Amino acid sequence: KVLNNDITQVVEADRAHVWHHLIQHAPWTGTDPKADPRIIVEGRGMRVWDQKGKEHLDAVSGGVWTVNVGYGRERIANAVRDQLIQLPYFAGSTGSIPGALFSEKLISKMPGMSRVYFTNSGSEANEKAFKMVRQISHKRYGGKKYKILYRDRDYHGSTLATMSAGGQDERGAQYGPFAPGFIRVPHCMEYRAQWNLTGEAYAEAAVNAIEEVIKAEGPDTVGALCLEPVTAGGGVIPAPEGYWPRVQELCRKYDILLHIDEVVCGVGRTGTEWFGYQHYGVEPDFVTMAKGVASGYAAIACCVTNEKVFEMFRDDTTDPLNYFRDISTFGGCTAGPAAALENIAIIEEEGLLENTTKMGDYMIDQLRALQDKHAVIGDVRGKGLFLGAELVADRTSKEPVDEKMAQAVVADCMAQGVIIGVTNRSIPGFNNTLCYSPALIATKDDIDEIVSATDKALTKVFG
Ligand code: PLP
Repeated sequence: KVLNNDITQVVEADRAHVWHHLIQHAPWTGTDPKADPRIIVEGRGMRVWDQKGKEHLDAVSGGVWTVNVGYGRERIANAVRDQLIQLPYFAGSTGSIPGALFSEKLISKMPGMSRVYFTNSGSEANEKAFKMVRQISHKRYGGKKYKILYRDRDYHGSTLATMSAGGQDERGAQYGPFAPGFIRVPHCMEYRAQWNLTGEAYAEAAVNAIEEVIKAEGPDTVGALCLEPVTAGGGVIPAPEGYWPRVQELCRKYDILLHIDEVVCGVGRTGTEWFGYQHYGVEPDFVTMAKGVASGYAAIACCVTNEKVFEMFRDDTTDPLNYFRDISTFGGCTAGPAAALENIAIIEEEGLLENTTKMGDYMIDQLRALQDKHAVIGDVRGKGLFLGAELVADRTSKEPVDEKMAQAVVADCMAQGVIIGVTNRSIPGFNNTLCYSPALIATKDDIDEIVSATDKALTKVFG
């Protein structure tokens, strides 16, 4: 069943014609049969099978924190199928049945928010928010309050505008020049804290540092602050205690819109709450989301706003430019919201927010036990089933391990049949955090298997 295609033909077609994301292709163009591209053929629950029929336990939810409810969910497939037969698509200024019902459901999980703008990817969702900030600046502030602050190490997407707000320099290298008006503020990573501070004192200093930037730029020029609730690809970085209330205060003080990028954390990944920001009592103006919205069963992303933002676009002036003049062709696909509605129903019915908290707590304890055993693990951190283990050559200096070593750990886990991740390649010092984001259905046995594979891989690579 797994290999029901002529897999040799598939591999050859892939090797000849597919340009894979985020990888140097050179090794695949040679004649070494071992250098085949990896093709994932099938998935069930927490597991996937590759073109060779090899089974893998997926500890990264489809590679990039996406398949939150696991593979093989027939009820999502059926909901999408039924919807596609009824109406696959209609766009422009119209609505759809699943679009309306999903929006209502989503907003019921987001007190304080009120409007859902549909689009296709996390990058686009973020760009919609950026465009809204720019237009608000024109509508309300004579075009002056246009700057968007973003944080070192945060990532908001692959398009030119979102890369202009990108805190990971290696992603941006060779793609500039970027859009003006995006201003970087310092990160808030306690493990590598600036100013030699910890805890609340560090949180205060990190937010003061943002305030310094606001003052230097001129508060009347700063329209929005865009942050990940837990930085994902930049190193799986939760903020220190006391950070978020201060961020909220800062935004209120300077009339700055708060944009929370929930592309990774959104829809259950961090456990207990539907969204990462909800752990910290934050009241955002924009919340963007993508990956977990339909667990990858359909492409759907949303830029959600509160009514304050929406009201700024609902005006009765005679200005013909007064509304949000934006469209997303595939924002009119009905498969996305149909899948997303089922996805939320599954999370509710199976108690997956609770499972995420329980399994996340168990997993972080297991990873901390590994830390006691392997000196190379300098730090273990994260929230819910969104965890990272940072590898350092020396615990005192926190000198990162060579990226090839971190990748060797990932490769050894893969050989053992467990897929784990590592933070972005080629940022010196930033490529050394092993990433774990199993589906929210993970069991203790799954977690034991993931941690045990990591244990063996660390022993093999570092002794
Ligand atoms: N924001 C964050 C925090 C992300 O991690 C990503 C992708 O990994 C994006 C935005 C961009 O999403 P997409 O790849 O769907 O454009």
